[in-house]
Amino acid sequence: MTTSNLSFDGLALAPALFEALASLKYTHMTQTQAECLPLLLKGNDVAVQAKTGSGKTLAFALGLLSRIDIENRDPQALIMCPTRELAEQVAEQVRLIGKRLANLKVLELVGGIPLGPQLKSLKFGAQVVVGTPGRIMDHIGKRSLNLKSVNCFVLDEADRMLDMGFEDEMKIVLRELSHSETARNRQTLLFSATYPEKVQEITTKYQRSATFIKVESQVVNLAIEQCAYRVMDEHRSQAVAALLTHYQKVSNIVFCRTKVETKELIEDLTHAGFAVAGLHGDLEQPERSQVLARFAGKTLTVLVATDVAARGLDIQGVDLVINHRVSEDVDTHTHRIGRTGRAGETGLAVTIIDGKEEDKLDEIAAKTDVTIKKHNIQTVRFHANRIVEPEFVCIGVDGGKRDKLRPGDLLGALTKDADVPGEDIGKISIAARKSYIAIKLRSVKRAMTLFRESKIKGKRFKARKF
Ligand code: ADP
Ligand code: MG
Repeated sequence: MTTSNLSFDGLALAPALFEALASLKYTHMTQTQAECLPLLLKGNDVAVQAKTGSGKTLAFALGLLSRIDIENRDPQALIMCPTRELAEQVAEQVRLIGKRLANLKVLELVGGIPLGPQLKSLKFGAQVVVGTPGRIMDHIGKRSLNLKSVNCFVLDEADRMLDMGFEDEMKIVLRELSHSETARNRQTLLFSATYPEKVQEITTKYQRSATFIKVESQVVNLAIEQCAYRVMDEHRSQAVAALLTHYQKVSNIVFCRTKVETKELIEDLTHAGFAVAGLHGDLEQPERSQVLARFAGKTLTVLVATDVAARGLDIQGVDLVINHRVSEDVDTHTHRIGRTGRAGETGLAVTIIDGKEEDKLDEIAAKTDVTIKKHNIQTVRFHANRIVEPEFVCIGVDGGKRDKLRPGDLLGALTKDADVPGEDIGKISIAARKSYIAIKLRSVKRAMTLFRESKIKGKRFKARKF
C-alpha cells in the first residue's frame, strides 16, 4: 500500500473512527484518501477515478460512517458493488472501521442466497447496507428495503457494474433514491477505475455538482523491489518455477495475460509440485471464493491470475509478484506489482521478458521512474527440494453464513471439542454456504473426526480436506 505523507489526524472524524484507524495501524492516508476525504466529509458529492488498491473503500467507509445516526436503525448508507465477493469485502471493511461504534449493523444483500434471512435482518434494522444490483432491486421491489433515511449512496466500481450489464439496475435505484425523503441532502459517491462516457453520464445526471477527482496512476511504491529475467519465450513456465524456488516466498502471485496461459501454467506448476491454484474467467463464484480463501489462509503458496479476474480484489500479504509476460501498459504493471509491499514491508516484483519485450519494460521503468535490473534466467535454477510447502492445509466445510456459522463457532469446536491447539489453526474464512479453515497438517485428523462425529451449533457439517 502506497500511502501519502498526510496523516488522518487533520480530518474531522469521530473519536470512535480515530480509535479504529489507530487499532488497524492505518497511520497515513493513501493519495486517493487524501484527495477525496476532505470533500467527502463535508457532505459533497464526489466521483473518484482511481486504481484498485488505492484505498477507496476506507475513504467512503469513513465518509458514510460519519453521517450515521446510530440510534436510528433505518438504512442510512447504501453501497452497491458489482459482485457478491466485492460486496462481502466492502462489508467486512466497513465493519472493521466501524467496530468502535456500538450497535452498528452492516448488512449484506447479495444474490445466490435465499431472501428470507435478508428480509428478517432488514426488519431488525441495519444502518449500512451493502449489496449487489440485482438483489438490491429485488428488495426495493418487495418494499423490504426502506430508502427513506438513506443519506449516502455509494456506487463502487461503477465501470465494472456497467460492464456487467447493470446499467438499468443502477439507474432504477438512483431514481428511487431521488424520490426518497432524504433526497435533498443525500450524498452520492461514485468510484471507478476508469471513467468512460457511461460513467460520466451517471455523474452528470444523478450526482449534485460532483467534484471529479482523478488520482493519477499510482505513485510506484518505492518499497517494492523490482527486477527482470530474460528468457526464451518457450521457457516461461520453467522460469516461473525456477524463480519460485529461488526466492522461496510463502505467498506468490503470478500474473498472466490470458486464461489459456493461466491454465497451462497452473498445470506445469502443479506437476512440478507447487501448491498452486488459479483465478480466471472460467471459474464460477464458489470456486473463486474457494481459491481466494485458500490463498489468504496460506494453504496455497502460488496464485496464478489474469488481470481481469483479479480486478478489484483485495488480496493481502503477497510476498512476490511474478509477471509471466511484461504488461501491456504502465497502469497494468503498477497495478500488478502493487499487490505486494505491505505497509512497512518491502515487496518484490519480478518480470519475465523475452527479447521482444525489453523495450516495453524499459518504457515502463522510464515512465514510473524506477530502475529495473535485468538478469539472465540461467542464474536461477529450479530445485524441487526448495519448493516452499504451505504452512497450513485447508479444510472446506459445507456450511457458512447462511447456516449462521461464525469463525468463533468453528474455532471453539476445534479447540474445545477436538482439542486442536490454537496455534495449529490459521485463518478461518466464512463464505455464504462454505467455510474454509487453515489448519496445520498434524491437526487435520482431529479436525476431520470432529466434523464426522460431532455437531456444531446443533448441526452436522460435511468437511473435506483440500
Ligand atoms: P480499492 O477499493 O481502491 O481497490 P481497497 O479499498 O480495497 O482499494 O484497499 C486496498 C487495501 O489497502 C485494503 O487492504 C485496505 O485495508 C488497505 N488500506 C486502505 N487504506 C489504507 C491506509 N491508509 N493505510 C494502509 N492500508 C490501507
Ligand atoms: Mg474497491
